[in-house]
Amino acid sequence: MKNLKNILQDARKNHYAIGQFNISTFEQLKGIFGAVNALRTPVIIGTSEGEAKFLGIEEISALIKIAEKKYKIPFFLNLDHGKDLALIKKAVDCGYSAVHFDGSSFPFEENARYTKEVIKYARKKSVLIEGELGAIKGESGIHQKKVILTEDDLTSPEQAKKFADLTNVDCLAIAVGTTHGMYKEEKGIDFERLGNISCLTMKKFLVLHGGSGISEEDIKKAIDLGIVKININTEIRLIWRDCLEKKLRENQEETKPYKLLADIKDAIQKKVEEKIRMFETRACK
Ligand SMILES: [Zn+2]
Repeated sequence: MKNLKNILQDARKNHYAIGQFNISTFEQLKGIFGAVNALRTPVIIGTSEGEAKFLGIEEISALIKIAEKKYKIPFFLNLDHGKDLALIKKAVDCGYSAVHFDGSSFPFEENARYTKEVIKYARKKSVLIEGELGAIKGESGIHQKKVILTEDDLTSPEQAKKFADLTNVDCLAIAVGTTHGMYKEEKGIDFERLGNISCLTMKKFLVLHGGSGISEEDIKKAIDLGIVKININTEIRLIWRDCLEKKLRENQEETKPYKLLADIKDAIQKKVEEKIRMFETRACK
């Protein structure tokens, strides 16, 4: 089976992106399994530190291995926005395919130094490392007001090149205008900045965080400019909550979880399939 690096290289060469979908419950995971199996297309399953701790790193890693055997397609796990080095190491040891070290709150030199420390540990086990430069702000959820970004929050193309050269990181999460969460107004992407970062960091896999709620047109333009991985979390969480609320409201006497949760699984599968098509991911041969 192909590994994540091969798939990201193929994505860059052929101008498409791999979706990362975050989960913290089994029915969310089942929805993703359903989409991957239906379209025969690999995705990355993301767990933030909170999601990973809730699910259990050992448990989720074991489930993914079982799914690979059952569906005969690779599944990739990524620790999303890892800040705790002990947790990152645990994810590496348990078989995650990738870890994202989020050192964005540190000054440049410290961020680079910690990123290199993670690389030193993870690369021995062929785990891909995602670094982060710039501040990807906002939290998952629906918000009334847009997060205001300043020039200092956004990734500087020159700094991105310096960071990439200094650390030799595999993937780079960049701040180009998107924020976590969804907003009444549309999120804007600074395409000129993205294009410049892409030109200066040729060999790095560029990652777009805060992918929920971005128009198809903007997604396609971002992919054309070099984005190969797009993270989606809020849209998956919203489906989970909305479906559950509706189901509980409509079935006040029902106590069987598998009856209450089946629609969530189906709705998540539909959303993930929609995103995979939007990202024009090629099927895994
Ligand atoms: Zn993120």
